[in-house]
Amino acid sequence: MGFSEILGHQRQTETLRLALAKGRLHHAYLFAGPEGVGKRTLALALAKAIHCAERVDDFCGQCANCARIEDGNHPDVRTIEPLAGKKEISIQQIREIEKQLNFRSFSGRKKIAVLDPATLMNLSAQNALLKTLEEPPQDSLLVLVATNTGGLLPTLRSRCLRLSFGSLQCAQLANYLASKKGLKREEADFLAAMAMGSLGTALKIDGEEMQEKRRVWIELLSSLKAGDYRAATVTAEGLAKDRDESLRFLEWAGIWYRDLMVHAVTRGSSELVNRDVLAWMEHESADDRLEHSLSLIAQTIEAAAGIQRNLNRRMVLENLLFNVVGNR
Ligand SMILES: [Zn+2]
Repeated sequence: MGFSEILGHQRQTETLRLALAKGRLHHAYLFAGPEGVGKRTLALALAKAIHCAERVDDFCGQCANCARIEDGNHPDVRTIEPLAGKKEISIQQIREIEKQLNFRSFSGRKKIAVLDPATLMNLSAQNALLKTLEEPPQDSLLVLVATNTGGLLPTLRSRCLRLSFGSLQCAQLANYLASKKGLKREEADFLAAMAMGSLGTALKIDGEEMQEKRRVWIELLSSLKAGDYRAATVTAEGLAKDRDESLRFLEWAGIWYRDLMVHAVTRGSSELVNRDVLAWMEHESADDRLEHSLSLIAQTIEAAAGIQRNLNRRMVLENLLFNVVGNR
């Protein structure tokens, strides 16, 4: 193992590696970016590089220190997340970590706390942390990990050095899944595309189950005939039964309509997420539906947001499917 084997995020990794080598690490970082792209992994990689017994300014992943950090039981490295059954990171947890950061380190090297997701700190916890950031304990390092930094106090954000993370490239992710997880090439390509650049999501998706689901969804959308509002109502009712399932459907439908649009414009398949079902795609896509696809992409996003806000699922989905049959 080592920094060179981190998936993606070369610029961010290099920034940290150089700062570490020059002894110029900031005392607090904010790692911001999409879910599941490797922010916490890089935070822990940095912790390993600081404590590794085998390598200097890099990590081996094998020594006792690296292993303890990986398992979450190194005395100088803590990960703070909400306690079991709780939704927030509490002020008590922040006070506890402040105390630990002020103790002398067990190893003589830096004491590190990774807060993930930092946005789950409630207001009083954030205020408590602010005090720690104003007077950082000697040889301490804080890493705040967040997908959306909007929930963090501006004063807190401004005291951290921000590293922004993007999505992983689809090809990068597919290569990783094929080489490290031993997936077949087609399956790796499909999962990487469906996960839209998130390794975390790709690892959670069951490839076979997803393929089957997609077949059902494609059939379902393409069977809706122009003006058949009755069928749209019945379909919406079926999809609305399960909240997670309807959100998954909407996420996929957004990708599907994007694919239809790309296919209509380029007539190529290399950019398509669903390129392995090209025959279906050719059946569905047509130049004259370009605008229709474009507006449906926006509507799937809007529908998903509505369901997230707990609007009536059946009505939200019905509204979307009415637009599908209305413009055929
Ligand atoms: Zn090591």
